[in-house]
Amino acid sequence: MIKKGDLCVKVLDVKGINMNFFTEDGELEVLDNISFTVNKGEIVAIVGPSGSGKTTILNVIAKLLTPVSGEVEINGEIGYMFQRDHLLEWRTIWHNLLIGLEIKHQKTPQQCEKVENMLRKYQLYDFRNRYPKELSGGMRQRIALIRTLAIDPEVLLLDEPFSSLDYQTRLMVSDDVYKMIKNENIAAILVTHDISEAISMADKIIVLTQRPASIKNIHKIKLTIEGEKTPLKARTAKEFREYFDIIWKELNDNEKKHY
Ligand code: ADP
Ligand code: MG
Repeated sequence: MIKKGDLCVKVLDVKGINMNFFTEDGELEVLDNISFTVNKGEIVAIVGPSGSGKTTILNVIAKLLTPVSGEVEINGEIGYMFQRDHLLEWRTIWHNLLIGLEIKHQKTPQQCEKVENMLRKYQLYDFRNRYPKELSGGMRQRIALIRTLAIDPEVLLLDEPFSSLDYQTRLMVSDDVYKMIKNENIAAILVTHDISEAISMADKIIVLTQRPASIKNIHKIKLTIEGEKTPLKARTAKEFREYFDIIWKELNDNEKKHY
């Protein structure tokens, strides 16, 4: 069991995960001894080459896949936000937000009030009776996040949540999403192939090798920032470039060179 202490409360413990897929061409080794921990309120980014096994790690944590060996310890609920926002186009924003609670039979007045408060806090309340198609991509992602937060997750899993957004929107939305995660003080795992995004948002970055993914390195991110950290401000920190170069190098050591 994960022990609760005052400082550095561990909310997730991933221990020695190995994962294989059985395909028509035989056995595909995907994860090789993946171990890491996530503390309360911490954002952990996972970066790795495309097809290395990032989504598979999230699916194992979410218990959608059973690993060949290893285990995942978690105390509370998992909130999973996918690459696409999966909002239902025929439901209003408000009714989209309640889906998770309905499925879990937790649609209590208190939980509804919590969702309503988040809508107000993040300036989306006026859109509650609109339909998803009336909202911008960035707003949709923030709605998807509120929906995920509605079930009070202990750990949030974010699988390349900004990849469908254009660059400008991406920067704005990652700022908003960062604030929301830190405000609600929950732990998050952010899968991304964007090194800058990882450095700007994460407290810790896990760098994966090519498939079968093993952990190449784990970086604790410490940036010099005046005042409160935001991902946009983080990009101007003097250490940013240094982290970028190191992680870039680690990722490209893996890459098979085709040119
Ligand atoms: P990433 O998210 O890092 O791009 P994935 O975790 O989605 O990578 O996939 C890792 C590897 O496992 C890929 O080669 C992919 O084709 C393969 N894979 C993923 N899911 C399955 C599955 N259900 N069956 C067989 N192979 C799979
Ligand atoms: Mg993926």
